[in-house]
Amino acid sequence: MRTTLAAAVTRGVAALSRIAGRGDGSVIGGRVGMMIDPALLTHLAGGRRMALVSGTNGKTTTTRLTAAALGVLGPVATNSYGANMPAGHTTALARAGDTPYGVLEVDEHYLGRVLDETGAEVVALLNLSRDQLDRAKEVAMMAQLWRDALQGRAITIVANADDPLVTFAAAGHPRVTWVGAGQRWYDDSWVCPECGGAIKRADADGAGEPQIAGGGGAPDADWRCTGCDLCRPSPQWTITGDSVVDPTGGRHQVLLELPGRVNRANAATALAVAAHFGVSPADALPRLAEVASVAGRYARVQRDGRAVRLLLAKNPAGWLEAFDMADDAPTLLAVNARGPDGLDTSWLFDVDFSPLRGRRVLITGDRAHDLAVRLSVNGVPFEHVPGLRAAVATVPPGQLEIIANYTAFQDIRTELNRVT
Ligand SMILES: [Zn+2]
Repeated sequence: MRTTLAAAVTRGVAALSRIAGRGDGSVIGGRVGMMIDPALLTHLAGGRRMALVSGTNGKTTTTRLTAAALGVLGPVATNSYGANMPAGHTTALARAGDTPYGVLEVDEHYLGRVLDETGAEVVALLNLSRDQLDRAKEVAMMAQLWRDALQGRAITIVANADDPLVTFAAAGHPRVTWVGAGQRWYDDSWVCPECGGAIKRADADGAGEPQIAGGGGAPDADWRCTGCDLCRPSPQWTITGDSVVDPTGGRHQVLLELPGRVNRANAATALAVAAHFGVSPADALPRLAEVASVAGRYARVQRDGRAVRLLLAKNPAGWLEAFDMADDAPTLLAVNARGPDGLDTSWLFDVDFSPLRGRRVLITGDRAHDLAVRLSVNGVPFEHVPGLRAAVATVPPGQLEIIANYTAFQDIRTELNRVT
């Protein structure tokens, strides 16, 4: 009775907040519902088979792809708006009503608690890397937190074999499905989280030569700790070209609307989670191909003869991935440093912008000047523009790729949605 009331209040408050123009209302709705029934998330999760998705980057997209794959079996509850803490989860489940399945994106810090409260049977771990400096935990601490949270649980873990921190967090668990999901960002895992020894990665050709700082190797290069046994587990799911190879050796071409290898990797993770629930890649893939945009990302919007595509990048690893996702076309970079972005832009110096050399680069945003300094140091020529409209006017008809951090992304998304 209390749960029914709390769920109704959650939906009602969230709807009111949305009508009042205060975002999608997930957080406030869930908070009020949990005041009425502190165990509301547990009660709402009961009776559903649940999967969780966590990691520094790619969780919103992977959650969306996983929900699409599980859709083969029936209705799926999911927090598609990216509210990824318990209040958001509560609202997502309250809104969905009775569904046999649920897939939730979970903030890294809340993984243990959300596992406790939802009784999820599968957890997908994507990656761990440095994030907003003023908020996030140091990454090795995060990996330890995950490891502690996962130990002793009767769950299946779907984990990225290419991330040493993820491997450390999942290693030793009796049921891990490893995915060769890749890692382009090496700079948080040169040191073994287990023993403090040096981690060495094979060259792109697999010859086993150790690599020097700076990255640039294959995203799925072999790696091992020089001081202990921690090494890249042999993945059951791998990516080869535009295909995913399943644990039986079956090869499936992955045709996605979403760009880049990183999204094929997200798809591989989604397929591995879906396989746990009994969905075959052949059944899931057509559903994945239908996902064209995720929370305003990826979709191309026509504007004055330019096909504008907006990519979100919130931290150094995310920027590297975005360079891979963006086509070789004029590119607008937009950086702000407002509350949700973190006020400190020193992370710009963690990102190697050299992949943009040879592309026409435009910059904008509150902290465009920080970006200007960084690009100068990196030897990437750029032009400063006041905003989206000027950027569109500056580039010739054709593609315009935009890579933006959080509030810059929201600003540009709002402007793109505005009918002029
Ligand atoms: Zn080690």
